[in-house]
Amino acid sequence: MYNILKLKSKFKTVTKETTRVLKIMILGFILIIAILGIKYKPVYEVKIADKTIGYIQNEAAFKELINGKIINKEVRNVDNISLASEPQYEMKLIQRTQDTNEEEIIAKLDEEKVITYKFYAVNVNGKNKAYVDTIEEAEEVVSKIKKEHKRDGIKLDIVVNEKYTQKLDEVKTDKIEIAEKSVENEIEHLLDEKEAKEAIAVIEGINVSVLPVSGRISSRFGVTSSIRSGAHTGLDIACSEGTDIKVVAKGKVVFAQNNGPYGNLVKVDHGNGVETWYAHCSKIYAKVGEKVKSGDVIATVGTTGNSTGPHLHLEIRIKGEAINPQKYLYK
Ligand SMILES: [Zn+2]
Repeated sequence: MYNILKLKSKFKTVTKETTRVLKIMILGFILIIAILGIKYKPVYEVKIADKTIGYIQNEAAFKELINGKIINKEVRNVDNISLASEPQYEMKLIQRTQDTNEEEIIAKLDEEKVITYKFYAVNVNGKNKAYVDTIEEAEEVVSKIKKEHKRDGIKLDIVVNEKYTQKLDEVKTDKIEIAEKSVENEIEHLLDEKEAKEAIAVIEGINVSVLPVSGRISSRFGVTSSIRSGAHTGLDIACSEGTDIKVVAKGKVVFAQNNGPYGNLVKVDHGNGVETWYAHCSKIYAKVGEKVKSGDVIATVGTTGNSTGPHLHLEIRIKGEAINPQKYLYK
């Protein structure tokens, strides 16, 4: 019994001592924390590729700052902005007197950002022919061109290609009007190629690819007749009233109205001094100044002016002088 009591008291002494040491330790720890707390503050160290570039107070707030100041910049043609390398964050204690430097770090990250630019190419039959800034502009060019060249009879594959680059000087875009012009030029080039390939005659370098009408030759060039004052300056092709008259080559309408003995007359200038005239028309569709391409219907056959029945009076003029159309057509 005595032994047990002695043991118990000994245990009590040991427990008391332990508690005392523990208390001192806790107090000491609190003291150290307090001293550290006065002298130091917790921050995040920011590293890029293992190199310390500064300190920030709050990681989440700093990430927001990166998004607002670097990533989300609404700039023309910018598709995406990213950081060259992702920063790493590590908690650290630094002296309270030392400031964090968020703005400096942002400036440094901004210098190393990677920008991807985006623009659009309008591609005609496999070749990029024009570049614009937005998909809306590209689609506008495509729909306009498709509408205008619906009946050209040339194979046209017009598509929009997205283009990406990280070099701003590679973003070579044009205003929509210029882009349209570039695509238009390419199509004109394709039309010229088609006309050259399909040419049935070449007059002073001008490709003629269609006959204006098909019909019976009713009066040849140079003949004299009681109904005319001089020799016949054109070729008459008889066909029924209202037949479509097609322009024989591309050009520009320079005359489109009634002209006495010619009746309703359309004159088309093809360049190189070559003009074709279409006379005695019943209806005129063409307008002065209008650009036409070969095969366009410019008028209909009639018998207006000095005429005895429906026919097309066709003239070919080179530098103003009427030549025999049968040198080239209806041979
Ligand atoms: Zn005639």
